[in-house]
Amino acid sequence: MVDLMQKIVSLCKRRGFIFQSSEIYGGLANTWDYGPYGVELKNNVKHCWWKANVYEQDDIFGIDAAILMHPKVWKASGHLENFFDLKSDCKSCKLRFKTADLKDKEKCPECGGELTPPRPFNLMFKTTYGAVESDTSEVYFRPETAQGMFVNFLNILDSKHPKLPFGLAQIGKAFRNEVTPGNFTFRMREFEQMEIEYFVHPQDADKKLSEWIERRFNWYLNLGIKKENLRKRPHTKEELAHYAVACTDIEYHFPFGWAELEGIANRADFDLKQHAQFSGKDLRYFDEVKKERFYPYIIEPSGGVDRSVLAFLVNAYHEEKVKDDIRVVLKLHKDLAPIKVAVLPLLKNRPEIVELARKIARDLKKNFVSTYDDTAAIGKLYRRQDEIGTLYCVTVDVESLEDKKVTLRDRDTMQQDRISINQLREYLTDKLR
Ligand code: ATP
Repeated sequence: MVDLMQKIVSLCKRRGFIFQSSEIYGGLANTWDYGPYGVELKNNVKHCWWKANVYEQDDIFGIDAAILMHPKVWKASGHLENFFDLKSDCKSCKLRFKTADLKDKEKCPECGGELTPPRPFNLMFKTTYGAVESDTSEVYFRPETAQGMFVNFLNILDSKHPKLPFGLAQIGKAFRNEVTPGNFTFRMREFEQMEIEYFVHPQDADKKLSEWIERRFNWYLNLGIKKENLRKRPHTKEELAHYAVACTDIEYHFPFGWAELEGIANRADFDLKQHAQFSGKDLRYFDEVKKERFYPYIIEPSGGVDRSVLAFLVNAYHEEKVKDDIRVVLKLHKDLAPIKVAVLPLLKNRPEIVELARKIARDLKKNFVSTYDDTAAIGKLYRRQDEIGTLYCVTVDVESLEDKKVTLRDRDTMQQDRISINQLREYLTDKLR
């Protein structure tokens, strides 16, 4: 299974999905850059999330808050006080461990050396704001996007006048100085989150929490994640974060084990109350019918973009025996595949074929994310497109010049159909809908 992870890491580099950051300088550990296909895949994941949670809903509004926020936000949120991991260092080999991962081991799991007693380690990155360095100019890179939504609660009430229940949705970068990053893009220090803060009447919170758990679980299934590799794991009381009264994780069965993709929490009225207290602003909601003023509860589905991308990659990776060869194919859902159509000339030394193929590619690009490639023989071109999950290959050959038809090859079935060039757009529109 670990072997599968290595294959994915290597495919991601070879084909231009994900590269080590600053690689020419030896790399910055556990930091990754998305290449040409990686950025398409990641954008598609974000778009599918936004479509399902903002465009297709009447009661959820998108926002895009700044990464740097007033330092008091992190006092109010509890992050300055509570956002710690306990870490222990090995006195011999100097490796650092999360105390929780040591599971009561008293010696270094790598070299058997003596460990330091557990020490708290705040996970927030600090920087200075403005031209003069002083205590008052210290700010933090946000460790979650959530706070940007809580501090805008009043702005949304005043500008959109929503009735409960309603939600805010945001996608953006978050930063955590993780003690033990690793497993490729699973745990990084700079990553992206997709979060919803759904404000509800306190008495509806349990019901809405269950609804959101189902909704988010189904989102992954609808995008092709295999059911046997996805599960819900309710938190025990002991593992709940300081702000949560209930939480269920959605976990994926990665090659390195079951691990969290998304957490769906009932944060109760913790955040609005804290920000009201620290800012001095009244952050209660006013129910005009009942003439009641109260703090709504918050249901928070909080997922990671990078972890989802990794799960979709693992889920899509297939090796198939075709004749005497192994075909590697990424069977990504049609909405996630980075490239929808590739146009390939069968003979690149025939200018009329190349010209026709280029023209077809140019036309298709107006409607679908498409590509043109003539840099290898057709077998190799197909293999390259399979490896990046391209849904359809259009091949232009000598006969195309006569009958104005092309061969359309389906990624998953490898079935090849002859189709008129002038029906291509309609056919693909229908398939990709
Ligand atoms: P973990 O227990 O794995 O550290 P968490 O419970 O601290 O995660 P949350 O605070 O609930 O994570 O963050 C919400 C989501 O953000 C996670 O489900 C995950 O998808 C993503 N996420 C959190 N930390 C990281 C990270 N270091 N790298 C990549 N994604 C992350």
